[in-house]
Amino acid sequence: MTPTAALVVASAVLGLVLGSFANVVIARVPHGASVVRPRSACPSCATPLRVVDNVPVVSWLALRGRCRTCAWRIPLRYPLVELAGATLFALVAWRIGWSSALPAYLLFAWTLLVLSVIDLDHKRIPNRLTYPLTPVLALLLVGAALLGGDPGQALRTLLGGVTAFAALLALALISPRGMGLGDVKLAAFLGLGLGFLGWDHLVLGLFAAFLLGGAVALALLAVGRRGRRDEIPFGPWLAAGSLVAVLAGEPLIAAYLQATGLG
Ligand SMILES: [Zn+2]
Repeated sequence: MTPTAALVVASAVLGLVLGSFANVVIARVPHGASVVRPRSACPSCATPLRVVDNVPVVSWLALRGRCRTCAWRIPLRYPLVELAGATLFALVAWRIGWSSALPAYLLFAWTLLVLSVIDLDHKRIPNRLTYPLTPVLALLLVGAALLGGDPGQALRTLLGGVTAFAALLALALISPRGMGLGDVKLAAFLGLGLGFLGWDHLVLGLFAAFLLGGAVALALLAVGRRGRRDEIPFGPWLAAGSLVAVLAGEPLIAAYLQATGLG
């Protein structure tokens, strides 16, 4: 196995485990509950989960999606979030490789997964996650840039966070109905991750977010699933746009420059 393949496999396994933890965070943080205590239990019969029933994806399959004690149907979303964690971690490891920036981008992907699901559920992005995780991401990225001997990259990372924050704050002030302050704080977080990679990645990430979010909003409006006044959470699109920029930014930007004759 090549070193990169080993890294991708190890990251996928880590993604499964942290995907399982993501389910705990998604279920508890919006209600202000601790993510450490009590131990995981069946939401229906409150029987604590045994270790063998708490293995990501595998246990859900082995139990055929039902609680061992009361046969409560465990939502399909639990294994799907775990699989999403594994897939995102594998893709990030493949894209970033053996680099001091890898821990930062694994944290980046995990946070965006958790915040997207919470935003879809509750139409808000909890400060309890963005407030501690944004400075941690900044430290990891600035540390990676300085380890790589590139103080300019460290500065650009921080400016990326500030720029994305300011851009979405301006939009939120112009159109308060479309965007919440949670989205603005999320923008600071993802601006750090995109700024580290370059200004072109930051522009692409925000552009992709508006393109994806706008296209879906128009489609839902067209099929009459939503009225003009219904809120469509924007957080998941910000997350999706930034992940596109992190994972596929290089080829997309090169193709754009070639197509426009700028490259
Ligand atoms: Zn049960």
